[in-house]
Amino acid sequence: MPISATSAKPAPKLMSADDALARILAGVPALPEVETPLLDALGLVLAEDIAADRDVPPFRNSAMDGYAVRGEDVASAPVELRVVGEVAAGGFPDRAVEPGEAMRIMTGAPVPDGADTVVRVEDTDNASDLVTITAATPQGMAIRHAGEDLKRGETVLTKGTFLRAADIGLLASVGRARVRVRKRPRVAVFSTGDEIVDLDAPIKRGQIRDSNRYTLASAIRAVGAEPWVRGIVGDSPDALRAALREAAAADAIVTSGGVSVGDHDHMKPVLSELGTIDFWAIAIRPGRPLAFGEITDGGRRVPIFGLPGNTVSALVTFEIFVRPALLRMQGRENVTRPKAKARLLEPVDKPDFLRVFARGIHDPEAGTVRLTGPQGSGILRSMSLANCLIDLPVGPSRIEQGEVVDLILTEG
Ligand code: AMP
Ligand code: MG
Repeated sequence: MPISATSAKPAPKLMSADDALARILAGVPALPEVETPLLDALGLVLAEDIAADRDVPPFRNSAMDGYAVRGEDVASAPVELRVVGEVAAGGFPDRAVEPGEAMRIMTGAPVPDGADTVVRVEDTDNASDLVTITAATPQGMAIRHAGEDLKRGETVLTKGTFLRAADIGLLASVGRARVRVRKRPRVAVFSTGDEIVDLDAPIKRGQIRDSNRYTLASAIRAVGAEPWVRGIVGDSPDALRAALREAAAADAIVTSGGVSVGDHDHMKPVLSELGTIDFWAIAIRPGRPLAFGEITDGGRRVPIFGLPGNTVSALVTFEIFVRPALLRMQGRENVTRPKAKARLLEPVDKPDFLRVFARGIHDPEAGTVRLTGPQGSGILRSMSLANCLIDLPVGPSRIEQGEVVDLILTEG
């Protein structure tokens, strides 16, 4: 399928996507470190080294329900042992286990002194006075040792760790109800354009519903940042100025629309008043125009990303430029998506001077990828159906069926 050749000649100075991204990553500030309740730390980057405050587990305990015994007593079976008590999780044994004795024990319960082995209940007759051990059990069986997970004083997580569910559990097990992390960015998002209306408003002739603000707010959330959803701003310099001033209270600003060079595209002059801004024509499709700069607010540098208004362009430029920037601001080292290669199931025509991010459906099992259908920059369904971007480089004007192409896996 041809990717429409609406645009005419190459503009004189197109910037490569890699150059633009490198400048963006070099330009965004790292967010401050803050203390946060443990449950809010998922997906954030740890800003301190964490040491274990005690052994985990803190005491020797049983991995099974069964009988705590001395290993030499159960080296062969069957054998009868005298049951001298019982210990459950949360309890503590009131005596030691002597030769010829056994103590009933539950999973997680402390192992009594003298015992070094737990015979699981399935290998006994489950009796309560005189128990018969029916299977020989190796010494040390089903014993969990103090500190076998974490040793007291040991560093268990280091500064810079991206916190996943298991890490949150580790932090809980060393008693950290609050931890220092790099702040989750609060990202202001608004739409621009006189034709754009919100979902609850009646639609007049010539108007369209705002989808970008919803797409972008969701993409912001998906990258672990907090969207601060602002309104729709008309194509007037005053409205834009006021909206940007307010949005500068955020950690970053994402807008869509108004960055082309139409008569009603006011981002450039207004932003040049309020801060520093670059307007780039990037050698990609979709999403050629992109504005990147910063506003300073009380000494804080607030990056601003002015994305194009076309629905696919807005989301693809978010994916390629804003997503990595928001991750880097959060202290993430790795800001790239997983990649793959696949065989193209259909030929694709493209402008040779552009890098095209076609929307694809990747079948990892078959090692193939196909287009999602029409690829216009306003056909948002092409993104909705996709599980990857097919990254087609500058150079060729046609990629043949069967050629192996690079994929950016965007699912998740
Ligand atoms: P612009 O970048 O402002 O020239 O807009 C390019 C195209 O995207 C126009 O067709 C707009 O109507 C459309 N567009 C701009 N903003 C939005 C939005 N928030 N939601 C949906 N479409 C939009
Ligand atoms: Mg517009």
